[in-house]
Amino acid sequence: MTTNIGQRARAPWLALAFAFLTCSSGATAQSNQPPADNGYIEGAVLWQQSSGERRALSYQAFALARMMLDRDLRMNRRLKRPRAVIVDLDETILDNGLNERMQVKNHVNFNQKDWSAWINRIEATTVPSSVEFLNYAASRGVAVFYITNRNDIQKAGTAANLQKLGFPNVNDQTLLVQTDPKDSSKEPRRQIVGAKYRIVLLMGDDLNDFAKVFEDSKTVASRIAASDRFKNEFGKRFIVLPNAMYGNWETAIYGGSRLSEAEKAAKRKSALKAY
Ligand SMILES: [Mg+2]
Repeated sequence: MTTNIGQRARAPWLALAFAFLTCSSGATAQSNQPPADNGYIEGAVLWQQSSGERRALSYQAFALARMMLDRDLRMNRRLKRPRAVIVDLDETILDNGLNERMQVKNHVNFNQKDWSAWINRIEATTVPSSVEFLNYAASRGVAVFYITNRNDIQKAGTAANLQKLGFPNVNDQTLLVQTDPKDSSKEPRRQIVGAKYRIVLLMGDDLNDFAKVFEDSKTVASRIAASDRFKNEFGKRFIVLPNAMYGNWETAIYGGSRLSEAEKAAKRKSALKAY
């Protein structure tokens, strides 16, 4: 996952079918791809895997989520519509640090073949406190929706991983994957949930998990401006989990998904600021 969710969604699905035919496992360099220049991600993986700070931020995020949910349950007792919580999966409730490390170790970028192989290992772990919070929400009669840009082919492995870890109410109605390979927007799926439910909280590690305005913001400046414009939503209706390993923040730096490794390195360098 050394590229982002959007790029994941745009990757050719034919490669996926090929992956299943060849039954590969583990991250391997694709024969026609140059080695990925992804050593810079190692620091982010180290932090994700080794810091108590990352765990503490997760505890903090889900503690805040519970406070906000409890407040809504307390203050709005006569709702006509049932409540729902929407969560993203990867690096919001599922930890894929092991896969990220494999990509860095093997100098490969994100690709659907390796991603599917990882998903089917059913070895993603939980982001701290996520299982407890979502089971608490379910125990209070709040519907939980899992909105992810994992795709249809990856759905069975994803559901198995979620169920293995003890997440509540994982089924075809609540696990909403990306069905159109050309459209990674989560907005239509958010609208489906919003048509029937009062969405109390959205949780994600990427701004695109929260609202269309972020999905439409493709540059570093516009994403920063959009996050500033919606600052009053964060910590209330929008709750963010930390992920410095990958995300649409990085795509914004590149301004496109077809750059060479050298071009991406140059873009990263020019985006860095110093006094
Ligand atoms: Mg995510």
